Order: sequence, then structure tokens, then C-alpha cells
Amino acid sequence: MPELPEVQTVVNDLIASGLIGCKMTRVEVRYPRIIAEPAPAQFRRRVTGKTITAIDRRGKYIIIDLSGPIHLLVHLRMTGHLYLAETTSQRTAHDHVILHLDDGRKLRYHDPRKFGRFFLVDRSETILAKLGPEPLSKHFTAKALTLMLSKRKRMLKPLLLDQTFIAGLGNIYTDEALWKANLHPCRNSATLNGPEIKQLHRAIRYVLRWGIKNNGTSLGGGETGFNSITGRRGRNRDNLKVFRQVDLPCPRCQTPIHRLAVGQRSTFVCEKCQPLP
Ligand SMILES: [Zn+2]
Repeated sequence: MPELPEVQTVVNDLIASGLIGCKMTRVEVRYPRIIAEPAPAQFRRRVTGKTITAIDRRGKYIIIDLSGPIHLLVHLRMTGHLYLAETTSQRTAHDHVILHLDDGRKLRYHDPRKFGRFFLVDRSETILAKLGPEPLSKHFTAKALTLMLSKRKRMLKPLLLDQTFIAGLGNIYTDEALWKANLHPCRNSATLNGPEIKQLHRAIRYVLRWGIKNNGTSLGGGETGFNSITGRRGRNRDNLKVFRQVDLPCPRCQTPIHRLAVGQRSTFVCEKCQPLP
């Protein structure tokens, strides 16, 4: 599932491909359930003729601002993928939404598992208000994290995955951040001391920044693996220390990495570096 660095990579690539300023001349919706709101017919009507004015990210949402102004929010969920195609290229089996642009290109939404969703809203806050802070914003300080943790008593991993607690983390970057911070995913969040919170804060920002720098993490091959709009694959897989590294030596202490199930999610830890008190 694309997480903050992968979604940021898509946003960066959408901007770099000159999408801002393009006008949508026609909208095709091949699989109506992708459009969470409004009704697909209304979606087509409202998007047609609109110009893209800005592209941004909040948590795992891609935000495409349109003239009006209205906002198109895209959540890629498991296997969603946006890509740009020339006007002559044929639609593939899992292209569910196609936005025709006035320069002849098509922005296509491809999603083999069909879990991704589009939201067209007048106010993006109606969708985004529930999200926790952006971990790379200047407001997300160690002090802010301390305050956030003081209000919770939960196992660390599910808490970090909770988008209302922090926006943008998923399975990969949570495991990597907890390893970097020497914290066990099953630790109760209320038991962290000051230095541990500082380590966790630093680790979250570090792994996300590296993810973005490497254009995201592409796991496995095939069409379900992450790739950005031009088909470019992320290089961050080579940078992973524990995620899907079962039985490989921990880069810090050489202990073999273990796989655990935490809240039904596969979780990767070094039991020596991340002891459970
Ligand atoms: Zn270790």
C-alpha cells in the first residue's frame, strides 16, 4: 500500500509532468464504485471543463485542486496507480477512471484490486479534518509527539498506523521507524520515556525523508507493486532494515530479524535491538 513517501512521489511526478494548468475535456468512469462522492454522473459533469490549479498531498491522499474551486482527493489504498498516457494508447483492463486533458494526454487511474477511491468535494477538510498531524511538518515536534502520546494508551504499532494519530505512516515505514528508535511494536505507548519519544520522533521523520529521497519503496514486481506515474519504481527497498527481512541479520547487531503478527499486520523486528520490557 502506498504510504506517505510513495504518495509524495506521485504528487511530485504529477507536478513535474506539467499537469498544473491542464484542462479536463472529458471524464470516463469505467468502474463507478471508485467514485466515493458525489454520484459518478455528477462527478463527470463537475470535473469536465475544469482546470488543474494545484497538486498537493495530505497523509496518504493526493489533492488535485480544480478551478471552481473544487477539490479532487484520490486515495490509492492497496493497488491504486495514476499514470499518464498519450492520447492514442489503449485502455488496459484495470483503468477505472480516465481524465482526458486538453493537451491530448490522459491521466488514468489503474487499480487491480479496486479499493482506491476518488472524492470530489467543495471543501477538502470534510475528508481531511479527521487526519492526525503531518509527520514532516514543522508543527510535528518531539514536544507535540509527547503531548499526543500522553493522551493515548495503546500498543505502539497500531497507534502509529492510526491515521487520526499521525497521517501517512503504513506498515513499511512504521516497522522501519520502530527499529530505528529501538522500540518494540508491542510496547504500550504510555510507557515511553522522554528520550524514547525523542528517538521515535527523529526515526519517523528520518525513514519518511529517506523514502521520499528514494522515490518510495517498490516491493515485488508486477502491476500491484508501487510505481509512480511514469512507471518509475522506487529505490527505497534497498534501504529497508527490517521490513520483509525475515531471517536476515539485523544491520545493527546481526540478530536474525523476526516476523510477528501485531493487530493482524505482519511486523518485522529485531528482538535484541527492540526488547519488550
Ligand atoms: Zn538488532
